[in-house]
Amino acid sequence: MGQLWDRLASEINLLLGRKAAVANFDIGQMTTYRTIAKCTLFVQVENQEELLTVSSVSQKAGVKIVVIGNGSNLLISDSGFNGLVVKLGNGFESMEINENSVEVGAATKLPVVARQTSSAALSGFEWAVGVPGTIGGAIKMNAGGHGSDMNDSIQSVEVIDLENGQKLRIGRKQLQFGYRTSSITSNQIVVQAVLELTDGIKSESEEMIKDIVRWRLENQPGGQNAGSVFTNPENQTAGNLIEKTGSKGHRIGTAQISEKHANFIQVDPNGKASDVFALMEETRRRVFSEFGIMLQIETKLVGFDND
Ligand SMILES: Cc1cc2nc3c(=O)[nH]c(=O)nc-3n(C[C@H](O)[C@H](O)[C@H](O)COP(=O)(O)OP(=O)(O)OC[C@H]3O[C@@H](n4cnc5c(N)ncnc54)[C@H](O)[C@@H]3O)c2cc1C
Repeated sequence: MGQLWDRLASEINLLLGRKAAVANFDIGQMTTYRTIAKCTLFVQVENQEELLTVSSVSQKAGVKIVVIGNGSNLLISDSGFNGLVVKLGNGFESMEINENSVEVGAATKLPVVARQTSSAALSGFEWAVGVPGTIGGAIKMNAGGHGSDMNDSIQSVEVIDLENGQKLRIGRKQLQFGYRTSSITSNQIVVQAVLELTDGIKSESEEMIKDIVRWRLENQPGGQNAGSVFTNPENQTAGNLIEKTGSKGHRIGTAQISEKHANFIQVDPNGKASDVFALMEETRRRVFSEFGIMLQIETKLVGFDND
């Protein structure tokens, strides 16, 4: 680690009063692909004050920052990320239900929110039970499934802007949710959100959750993957197009197109992001040459050339 990073790590540790900054951190293992990849520095913050402190010193040092949620939609390059990765810790895992309004911390896991709101006889978030991400990552991605997405229940979010350290509340309209997109920029860290759900019937919501879990087990693979690799083109599914090219089971090095679902890439233990990326590119080429459709990658790439 260079002098700049040494200084940054010492300053963060001093201001947070604990050894919070970890150098040369194995960030790949914090993603669901679990590839081998390092970042220069890693800090887990436990509250908004710590986040503001880290953001202010890193901003002054001019280093790149990436926030990681549950790493379930992230591929980090084999050469690593030359920057600071920030994770929101347990202090950002919270949920408070007030009639139809649910205030959630950004590190809270979607399946937890889905199950607890259903138990409280609130409906509208059951779909999220099979999405292994955090509220923050799901808002950034406008995660969705089973005919719904974050847009259907988010009322507002609170973000901290890394550029100026300001806290901002953003309403649903301003979030400009699209298909797996939102207006959240790479400088904005979601710290909290308010969901608005409808009155439901506990037993019905719980039944729906069981069905969704069953469906996922039957139709999607387990193991090391990041869910859908490509977004669906209009009126088509990426999985179907890939399957038609005969690519199920196709392997490059440590990465393989799932036999169970063609839009999932499975990675071997200690796998390589370069194999995943090569398989993504080859799949795009195959689909393009057969159908003239260029698939778009849903997974966020970190530490790659265009990053
Ligand atoms: C088995 C499996 C099934 C999946 N099924 C679905 C599905 O049905 N539907 C679906 O939409 N997705 C699905 N996914 C993908 C993934 O779970 C979602 O995109 C999820 O919302 C990502 O959340 P995360 O916390 O893991 O974000 P990460 O992967 O950690 O990050 C994703 C992006 O969000 C940013 N980010 C993370 N936290 C914050 C924050 N607090 N503030 C601002 N930006 C932030 C990151 O910088 C990055 O750009 C699946 C993944 C897996 C592994």
